[in-house]
Amino acid sequence: MHDYAAELNAEQYAAVTTTAAQSLVIAGAGSGKTRTLTYRVAWLLEHGVAPWRILLLTFTNKAAREMLERVTQLTGADAGQLWSGTFHSIANRLLRRHAERLGYMPGFTIFDSDDQKALMKSLVKQFAGKMTKADRFPKPELLLSLHSLAVNTATDWHRVLSNEYAYLEQHEDIIEKIYNEYTARKKALNVMDFDDLLTNLLRLLEEHADIRGDLQSRFCHVLVDEYQDTNTPQDRIVQLLAGGPGSCLMAVGDDAQSIYSWRGADVEHILRFRETYPQAEVYRITTNYRSLPPILELSNAAIAQNENQIPKDLQAARSGSHFKPVVIPAPDNRTEAAWVARRIDALMGDGIPGKDIAVLYRAHFHSMDVQMELTRAHIPFRITSGLRFFEQAHVKDVIAFLRLLCNPRDEIAFRRIAGTFPRVGDATAGRIWAQWLAAYEKWAAAHPDTVILSEPHSKVFAEPAVKVAPAVRPHWNGFLALMDSLHPDGHSLLPAELVRQVITYLNPYFTHTYDNFDERSEDLAQITRNLGTEENLEEFLASVALLSEVDSPTTPDDDTVTLSTIHQAKGLEWKIVFIIFLGEGQFPHKRVIESGSTADIEEETRLFYVAVTRAQDQLYLSFPRYNGRSYDAQFSPPSRFLTTLPQELIQLWSD
Ligand code: ATP
Ligand code: MG
Repeated sequence: MHDYAAELNAEQYAAVTTTAAQSLVIAGAGSGKTRTLTYRVAWLLEHGVAPWRILLLTFTNKAAREMLERVTQLTGADAGQLWSGTFHSIANRLLRRHAERLGYMPGFTIFDSDDQKALMKSLVKQFAGKMTKADRFPKPELLLSLHSLAVNTATDWHRVLSNEYAYLEQHEDIIEKIYNEYTARKKALNVMDFDDLLTNLLRLLEEHADIRGDLQSRFCHVLVDEYQDTNTPQDRIVQLLAGGPGSCLMAVGDDAQSIYSWRGADVEHILRFRETYPQAEVYRITTNYRSLPPILELSNAAIAQNENQIPKDLQAARSGSHFKPVVIPAPDNRTEAAWVARRIDALMGDGIPGKDIAVLYRAHFHSMDVQMELTRAHIPFRITSGLRFFEQAHVKDVIAFLRLLCNPRDEIAFRRIAGTFPRVGDATAGRIWAQWLAAYEKWAAAHPDTVILSEPHSKVFAEPAVKVAPAVRPHWNGFLALMDSLHPDGHSLLPAELVRQVITYLNPYFTHTYDNFDERSEDLAQITRNLGTEENLEEFLASVALLSEVDSPTTPDDDTVTLSTIHQAKGLEWKIVFIIFLGEGQFPHKRVIESGSTADIEEETRLFYVAVTRAQDQLYLSFPRYNGRSYDAQFSPPSRFLTTLPQELIQLWSD
């Protein structure tokens, strides 16, 4: 058996070996919370708990994978049977088995934000198409975020509307119609968006006592990382899953790192843990293992400014460096970026691999200049902010075919495919879709027990079922032939092979449509490389939809520097960290300053705290005095996060 006491401090060891039914580890950044959770899993396995009775909920799927790899190293056990991943991916797995109880058909597909936008856009057109600019009807994106915020805070959307978007109340009736239709359409298309994954799992647990009972007795250990950023449906899901007579729950988190309230997270869930679970044991860790003392001192000072927090003054476990965090004022953003690139170049020249270096920022667009300068300096980097890998147009084109193969009612996928036919616009695509759906429903009614994969598409959707214009006919036939070839003899090929065939089919379209197709075909090759071993099409599609920015499938090599938003860097660590654009108005954001809300400023402060606590050895804090170079360049003084720090904690460099 592994010697746990040797690799954990007394506080961590107590938590790892606890016999309490519910326990909470609440401690500052870098104190080993995630490590504690990992060792807890190893401990449970070594004490005879079957892996499939453990449920591990993490912030990213990648984090879960890394934790399980470590567990395997520690115990030699195969942790593959553990249930682990994000709330969304666990919800997906459970709903794959039980969604029919909620009235879904088998094989539901998942909408990403792009698909949601496409559907919402068409509904806005349908219900508010006559509005003019002067009516100021909200954009699809805004309607979606309002809807999502309501779902994730478990609040009636009317309330969210009047609290946060009072100026939209004049449109409340139309918005109501749009939301109702949005919900109905998703159901009819047999799709779920991300929020549905959570709320449907919650409904399943609340309304179906048999399933709830089964899951409660299956998962005798529920473990949750980053508990400070759970939203209300997630918190309820945890309560229900870990609510059986023999269930054990362990949550870990840090209230000072709650940074997702804008997406519905509520720090109260961790702060009120003892109210929800009065018997819970609470463990605190007061040592930081990540950062050298000068960085830790700065981190402690940064978060001390917040009133609303559980005070935690962390002591450094590491020692030995006097290299204080560096502050670099730059005349403008280009100079700032050039400085960062030069410094990275020098560090790499000293033998520090790129994978140990990260550049962090508050907003994705802050990374543009750094991207340019790194490219110019031939320093490889990867970006974990911005478009999700699978939300890029060409990747979505390919995936649409597989989605339709799985779920013939997936209108958004169908329309995307039809859009690749020459001379087919939105209206024509809509007409073909209506015929397709009618033909499919007719076929499905006549073959209640058969799935579409066992029938050639060219038979089900041939003339006269779907009539298309003569000019479109060859492309339509080509598409049907492709769909047939994708499931020879009713047995679908491996997803990687399906992807290869679709790519070959789409090649002419791609070369006409995308000017940088060489780069894009690299991405496509990457899909087949990374997901090549997956055997089940439905699972493959779900894993594609559930990949988050951080889970991007491109594996960085040792030389690759990371560029990331701070939100996406949660829980991670690097030897060298740069934080850029630390100007007042950029970070904290102008909108927050103007709002004058203490709660909002405190969330920005927590975000700054998350950023500085990612660094192990060296920390660089830079800001541009001017953003932009032309006559409309904006001047900004250094961020309050820099000016309010005790000045003896930093060293000032000029660029
Ligand atoms: P965050 O709040 O940022 O999520 P965390 O509290 O989860 O941080 P970890 O990521 O688990 O902290 O640990 C931070 C670093 O310290 C890791 O590199 C981890 O391996 C190391 N560490 C934690 N505890 C110990 C320990 N007892 N002995 C040696 N190293 C440790
Ligand atoms: Mg952690």
